[in-house]
This record gives sequence, C-alpha cells and structure tokens, in this order.
Amino acid sequence: MDIRSRFGLRPVINVSGTMTSLGASIVGPQAVDAVAGILPQFVEIDDLQRRASAAIAAACASESGYVTASCSAAITLAIAATMTGDDLGLVERLPDTTGLSNEVVVQTGHLINYGAPVDQAIRLAGARAVPVGAATEAHGYQLAAAISERTTAALFVVSHHTVSYGLIQLEEFVAVAHDKGVPVIVDAASEYDLKRFIAAGADLALYSAHKFLGGLTAGIVAGRKALVRAAYFQNGGIGRGMKVGKEGIAGTIAALEAWRTRDHAAVRERERRYLQLWHDTLNRLPGIAATIDPDPTGNPLDRLKVSIDASRARISAWDLADALARPRDDARPVIVRDHEVELHYFFLDPCNLHPGEEQIVAARFVEEIGRAQSAREPVVTPFHQRDAKRHAARRNWPD
Ligand SMILES: *Cc1c(COP(=O)(O)O)cnc(C)c1O
Repeated sequence: MDIRSRFGLRPVINVSGTMTSLGASIVGPQAVDAVAGILPQFVEIDDLQRRASAAIAAACASESGYVTASCSAAITLAIAATMTGDDLGLVERLPDTTGLSNEVVVQTGHLINYGAPVDQAIRLAGARAVPVGAATEAHGYQLAAAISERTTAALFVVSHHTVSYGLIQLEEFVAVAHDKGVPVIVDAASEYDLKRFIAAGADLALYSAHKFLGGLTAGIVAGRKALVRAAYFQNGGIGRGMKVGKEGIAGTIAALEAWRTRDHAAVRERERRYLQLWHDTLNRLPGIAATIDPDPTGNPLDRLKVSIDASRARISAWDLADALARPRDDARPVIVRDHEVELHYFFLDPCNLHPGEEQIVAARFVEEIGRAQSAREPVVTPFHQRDAKRHAARRNWPD
C-alpha cells in the first residue's frame, strides 16, 4: 500500500527535479537500510561523524568533512567557522559578531533564493553579505576591491537559479580571494561532481545529501580539516538548532557509498528513454514544441524543454502546468519544473521517476491538451493572477 493514501496525500508524479517542497528525491535502498539499522541503536556521534569524514574525504578528494542538517545549514555553519575558528568561546557568542570580521563577499548574480534567500543563511551566522558587481556583470577587480580586513569569507553559488553569464568564474574567484587570504566556500548543493570544486581550490564545498545523492535530508561539508573542524564545533553553538540525527549521518554515508557503486550510464540511458518518449509524444500535440535541453550547470542530466504557443495549444504554459498538477478527475497529479514559466515554457525532469510513471506523464499531456482543444474558450489566465492565487493559497495553510 502506498503510504500516501494512508495519510490522505495526493500521489504526485515529480517531473520537476529534486524539490524540498515535494520531498526532495527518491531515497535509495542502501540509505533506507542504513537508517533502519541505526535508528534503534545508540552510537557515539563523534565517531559516526569521524566515519562520515572519511566517506566524504574519499568521495570529494578533500581532507575531511562532516554531515549537517542541510546544505542551507552548511552555508551558515561554514561562514560561522571562518569567523570563530576553533575558539569555543566565540562559537557560543555567535550570532553576536562584535569585533569580528563578518563580511562575506558574494556576486550579486549569485544572491538567489533556493527556497530561502542565500543571504539569510549568511546573516543567520551573524555575518552579512557584501554584493559584488551587478546582477549580470561582475569582474575580478570588483571582487578584489570588495575584500577588506572586515572580510571573513567569499561565497560562490552554483545553481540554475544564478545568472549564468557575465559573472566571475570559479577559477578567477578563487585566485582573487586567496590572493587576499580569504577562504572560499562553494555552495554546490545540486552538483553531481563531488570533486570539482575542491580540486578548483575551494576551501569548503557544500552539498545536499537529499538531492542527486538520494540520501536522507542532510548537508555535506567537505574541505580543509581546520575549517571543517571549526564548522563541526558550531554544533555547540548556533548549529544546535540545525542538528542532524544519527539517521541523517548514517543515511549520508550510505548514499555516498551507493553513489560510488551506482551504474551512472544505466541511469542516464533510462532518463534518455523517458525524454525521447516525451519528446515524441509532445511534439505531436498542437502548439507544443519540445526539445531536449542540457542541465545549465553542467550536471550529466538533460531535461525536456516544453514551449507552449498558447494560441495554438489553446492553453497557456502556466495554465497547462496547473492543469497537470490539479487534475479535475482522479488522474495522477504531475508536477512540472515551472520556475521560468512566464517565458511560456517549462521543463520535464526525468531524474525522480518510478518505472511506468513516464507513460502516465505522456498520457496526461495528451489528455490536458485534448481538453483545451475542445474547450469553448482558450485557457489563458493573466500570469500575475496565477502568482497571486498561489501566494494566497500558501497563506491559508494549514487550511
Ligand atoms: C537546494 C539548494 C540549497 C539548499 O539545500 P538544502 O540541503 O535543501 O538546504 C542551497 N543552495 C543551492 C544552490 C541549492 O540548490
């Protein structure tokens, strides 16, 4: 029995990617087993984290690592580490940073919202973000000029949400920061490549355990031992309210192990088959043009970009996304990747499907476009109304 029906929850099909709002990812069997095994047992957490450090070091080719509650927590605790070092008195004093260097330089085009604003993760530690450059243009000399004796860290964010052109590339970012003696922290929450950022000179690289890794909700801090240790010490300070349990640590160790032994080529091949099915089905529908699109940050993952000509489809991109998500009958809800939908397209992400769901997704498109074609009026809600309606619905929670 699907546990969702026991809880009265809709059996959603996730073609939007790894979204916290949908339960992140499919947790793999190795992580599930590790969690079931450790939940009833007592362990010495320092030893479990020591074991995690070795697993992270091996996976990331870093000196050491540890597991946090989330990548968002990892940002806050990594920044905290650069301010306190291993001084336990300072650890207990945060977020009061009186007298400490507490500025974090970060490119303006990197100040994204991943579910919460990245600069808030900085402020939680008692630090503040110093934006570098304009949203769509930044240069090394601007980064150099923004760094002073008040600077504690330089944060580099890797995400499809960041501005993707005109900004300082990681190699130059690291070179400028290191030239000024400032440590570089890379938020690589969703990046499949566990080694690239440490190899490029990052002092700390931060990942989510519950995204591509298919682990429990947790974060990974990898990097230089002294900084990792200082970040770990925050568990006796501001990190306490972001604590990870034994299950999160054990689940992360198991997920890293599973990642190492996973047949990545077979996964890609399966995803390619899903994309091809959707590509062929959707391109036969009126007003839809679908193309296979590479991941914007270079992950080995393609998505289907679905562009909607509302006049021919007789439904707008966002109304179609909503119709797929909120079927009128007992059809399965399909949640698409629609963060840019006002540009008249959305994406289908193949990385979080159970076998057979790809067919349901294709069928749901045929059904909804068929319905729109036979409707008396085209379905085109003004976009601002859709946004307002969504926010109104959120504000009503738990009703
Ligand atoms: C998902 C994400 C985060 C937050 O990660 P959590 O582990 O869910 O807290 C931070 N930064 C980026 C770029 C992300 O994609």
